[in-house]
Amino acid sequence: MTDPALALLVALLGACVGSFLNVVAWRLPRQESLFFPASRCPRCGSSLAWHDNLPVLGWLRRRGRCGHCQGPIAVRYPLVELLTAGLWVAVLLARPDAMGPVSPWLLLPAGWLLVSWLIPLVLIDCDHLWLPEPLCRWGLLLGLAITTTLGLSQSAGFARAQLFDHLLAAAIGLLAFEGLSALAERLIGQPALGLGDAKLTALLGAWLGLLGMGLAVSLAVLAGALVGGVARLCGWLKPRQPFPFGPFLAFGGLAVWLAGEAWWLRQQEAFFSGFSL
Ligand SMILES: [Zn+2]
Repeated sequence: MTDPALALLVALLGACVGSFLNVVAWRLPRQESLFFPASRCPRCGSSLAWHDNLPVLGWLRRRGRCGHCQGPIAVRYPLVELLTAGLWVAVLLARPDAMGPVSPWLLLPAGWLLVSWLIPLVLIDCDHLWLPEPLCRWGLLLGLAITTTLGLSQSAGFARAQLFDHLLAAAIGLLAFEGLSALAERLIGQPALGLGDAKLTALLGAWLGLLGMGLAVSLAVLAGALVGGVARLCGWLKPRQPFPFGPFLAFGGLAVWLAGEAWWLRQQEAFFSGFSL
């Protein structure tokens, strides 16, 4: 259904954006400029030639080593580029229904923006157990602005309803998570969920609305419990060792955007009807 040439072009664009997202995830927590200077080797500081900057290929050509100091360049860089490329193509195939019946040509840029906004948040949370406030705040405002604009392509009334639902979702996401976090802190005597998780949930609410956010958080809790449980059993995670929840929230949000709310509701129904049989 999708033209393979178009998918390839989107994958290439996504890989280039992924290359930039690597830079964002490295420099933003260090408060460095995102655009200057050009990419450098983190070990010897020598700047990279344009052909070393090619997504994935530059890394493969150098076999994961810097051309100057031969120091290793983490395999995470090409992996993030591949992941971004894959998710950009997935957005091409996605039909999110959180937006109502909106033209796919308006939905595409919105989906690409959401993917590209969540990836650095996930990387920074994994590296520093921290979800930067400005990224969450601007992502939330962008989500409200974009979903309202998409609503306007239907009618003013639809846009108003859309804005109300998504604003309400953002507020509920923030307050519910902060409340849960305070409750968990009382119960186990240490912070369980960061405030960053509350802000990221609010961001998802702004993009997905109330129902979409609820589904995304359920998926995040399910995936987090599964991965956390397996990590505990295998001894990768010590008791009470904190682990980032942001990646699971981002996973839930993208899963809802890509597959659509209706699809997840059908899965949920099938799951629970399996129990009642
Ligand atoms: Zn080097």
